[in-house]
Amino acid sequence: MKVTEHIKKAKGKTLFSFEIIPPQKGKNIQALYNNIDPLMEFKPPFIDVTTSREEHIYIEKKGLLDLKITRMRPGTLGICAAIKHKYDVDTIPHVLCGGFTKEETEYLLIDCHYLGIDNVMALRGDSMRHEQYFKATNGGHKYAIDLVHQIQNLNKGTYLHDVTDVDDKSDFCIGVAGYPEKHIESPSLQTDLKRLKEKIDKGADYVVTQMFFDNKKYFDFVAAAREIGITVPIIPGIKPISVKRHLQLLPQVFKIDLPEVLIAEIEKCNNNKEVRQVGIEWSIQQSKELLAAEVPLLHYYSMGKSDNIKAIAKEVF
Ligand code: FAD
Repeated sequence: MKVTEHIKKAKGKTLFSFEIIPPQKGKNIQALYNNIDPLMEFKPPFIDVTTSREEHIYIEKKGLLDLKITRMRPGTLGICAAIKHKYDVDTIPHVLCGGFTKEETEYLLIDCHYLGIDNVMALRGDSMRHEQYFKATNGGHKYAIDLVHQIQNLNKGTYLHDVTDVDDKSDFCIGVAGYPEKHIESPSLQTDLKRLKEKIDKGADYVVTQMFFDNKKYFDFVAAAREIGITVPIIPGIKPISVKRHLQLLPQVFKIDLPEVLIAEIEKCNNNKEVRQVGIEWSIQQSKELLAAEVPLLHYYSMGKSDNIKAIAKEVF
């Protein structure tokens, strides 16, 4: 079922969902299931599965470094299919511009359609680690909006190169990313919102936000989005802080601010067990306030671990 239909069916009740990352190449999928199992009691209508970009690795061979390109966490679509089958839940693969040609994207979308996947998250992806800026893959898309356009074309039965005799069409519901504290590359929040509106106008059906730790940022973002005519659901993304290093890492990677009170609480902690508890309590407080504001859904970034998400969900749902 489409995300928008799940939201409609819930009739104002806030739903619970989460995002997982595929295991590293060579690791057993059971560990992933062990982290999903405890969260199923909260009845997520869907689970998102992230996609990792390819990366450069150097392998030492007879004293020389050999450059190879590899994807360290492959398997997004396979995991979507496996989880859909195992738990009877909708799964949402993240589809990226970076690292894929338009043709590869088309094949991926056709696989999604055959697997009965109704939703896809259309994202640009980040630059490769060794690159300072995002560069479009040869034959790939530059912005997420171009991906939304390709998916919408497929929904209309328009394939690439227009050589297909079509008697079956996909009907993907499309999610896109939104940034309450603006995307790192955007010159201003208002410009970023304009870009978001363009993605919606091109056919995206809902927005999932980047993590934020101050609900006011989300409320202001939604108000500003509504003001420029964005009417689709805007789903808040919540991440519980779990290690002290997040204090530097999260602002650096995601260009987000952390509230002073939260920073002070984390700095007082003697170990990461205490940090984890602070992170859980902060997320509970955030979630309860968002729930009271009747957000359609609370979407948690699990980063492959479920114990903290379960502790939060138990208090909130
Ligand atoms: P876009 O919407 O293309 O925007 C990228 C930048 O370009 C923005 O600054 C925007 O303002 C600007 N822009 C857009 N259109 C134009 C235009 N026409 N001209 C000039 N500027 C423009 N990354 C992964 O690698 N894998 C994942 O699974 C993944 N999942 C994510 C899930 C969520 C909910 C979120 C919020 C992010 C996720 N990301 C993921 C990260 C995401 O790929 C990065 O944040 C990426 O840098 C931007 O992606 P986007 O889809 O927002 O890009």
